[in-house]
Amino acid sequence: MRAQVGGRGEAAVRAQVGGRLQADQRAAESGRVAERLQPARSGRAAERVQSPGSGRAAERVQSARSGRAAERVQSARSGWAARRGKVTATRQAAGSCQGRGTHVPQRSPQGAPGDRVGHRPLPGPSRRTRLRRGPLRVCLAVLAVAAIASGCGDSGSAAGSRPEAVSRPGPHPGPGPHLQAPPARALDAYAQRLIDSQAARVAAAKRWGLDRVPLQAPAPPAVKPEIETRPGFEVTDGEGLPPVFTTVPTTDKVVFLTIDDGAEKDPALLRMMSELRIPYTAFLSDYLVKKDYGYFGEMQQLGVTLNNHTLDHPYLPGLSYAEQRREICGMQDVIEEQYGRRPTVFRPPYGNYNRDTLRAAKSCGIKAVPLWNAEAFPDRMDWRDGDRDLHPGDIILTHFRGRADWNGTMPDMIRYVMKVITAKGYAVARLEDYL
Ligand SMILES: [Zn+2]
Repeated sequence: MRAQVGGRGEAAVRAQVGGRLQADQRAAESGRVAERLQPARSGRAAERVQSPGSGRAAERVQSARSGRAAERVQSARSGWAARRGKVTATRQAAGSCQGRGTHVPQRSPQGAPGDRVGHRPLPGPSRRTRLRRGPLRVCLAVLAVAAIASGCGDSGSAAGSRPEAVSRPGPHPGPGPHLQAPPARALDAYAQRLIDSQAARVAAAKRWGLDRVPLQAPAPPAVKPEIETRPGFEVTDGEGLPPVFTTVPTTDKVVFLTIDDGAEKDPALLRMMSELRIPYTAFLSDYLVKKDYGYFGEMQQLGVTLNNHTLDHPYLPGLSYAEQRREICGMQDVIEEQYGRRPTVFRPPYGNYNRDTLRAAKSCGIKAVPLWNAEAFPDRMDWRDGDRDLHPGDIILTHFRGRADWNGTMPDMIRYVMKVITAKGYAVARLEDYL
């Protein structure tokens, strides 16, 4: 458990929820919480909770869900629009590495707190309603401790906690809300947030058709790992150039999702990843992105880092140093102009590069060149290594593609890759937290 729950707080949680929940933690970690809920679903009471139309409590869940989702999208859209205005106004002042050359771009607030976590029953509902909530209460109490124990918390001290900040379903689709334990007097609210948080993850997994609830990544490393070029991926005289790697050195059982190019602009992907709180990183190529900069602006507002994948997606080793520099620095300029931030991470198209590529990238402000160790499709994985397996820190590549390009939609692809990742016991973490 990473959360440093205060002495009284921890004791209270343990006393109130009971030792048997240790077992539930393990179940939750292996993604079986949804399965454990299955027997409850067959009961009539639970069915009412499942189908949002019938129970009053469930109605509130549903309305809270859609409200929050709408708020997120709304805030993402308006935030991006506002930011873009500002960026446009200041773009002339922004420095450009292309300056000398010509630029020829080819929680569920329904209030169903369990007695086990010390809440008084809400006033109002009839006895019948309370009975309906029974299975939900038990499930949520189980989930609360599962969430507590599966590393919702940051390793930060209680003094630095901002409960109001974590209670909000933020736009950040990171590895889940890293809740910090508040002082004991706020324990009720803290426990409730854990319940809400895990319940939301379970509900989102079901809504998006995942067979298991994605595992929650541990808190980001306090000290970022030192990354070196993978053996066999070096260039001659590569000293001091950005490292090229396929796996981030870590012992955390995490992998990283990276999505390339930008052809398919499926709004469902934004909603899905946000609701499931699965982090990912985008590598964008301008010839595809420029058809709708706004889509990726919304993505950025939802917490995704937009990185460099060149202007025109060429085979870089076939170009001169100057031409490569224009491709890489030119995309730096586009991303800065459109999204207000100059990337430090770059991926060469097709994973092909030479020494000039890395020299040019460095001169454009690039610090890291992550490739990938596995590639995801809607119906299969391609593996770089002979063991055809995931390893801690592996970077997974996939693409913004749709039915025209491959056998499925973006959500289909995510469902498939998450099935593989979760079944192998991995969580998806944010690449930027490790770079
Ligand atoms: Zn590409």
